Amino acid sequence: MSIKTTPPNCYICGKKTEVDKLHYCICDIAVCEKCLNPLKKNEKTWICPNCKAENNIEKSLLFRKT
Ligand SMILES: [Zn+2]
Ligand SMILES: [Zn+2]
Repeated sequence: MSIKTTPPNCYICGKKTEVDKLHYCICDIAVCEKCLNPLKKNEKTWICPNCKAENNIEKSLLFRKT
């Protein structure tokens, strides 16, 4: 619910990534677009490498492009 002031690093590659390109999980980790690919279960879902939760790819984006 809270908006973070510091962009987190990607959980997989550890790189600092633009906030709008990070996908967030409920367990408070973020994964960048590149690292999300191997985590994808299908076109709409990715599996969190930390808590194994299934996340919607679009909904896990903090910001959406319009
Ligand atoms: Zn990454
Ligand atoms: Zn998670």
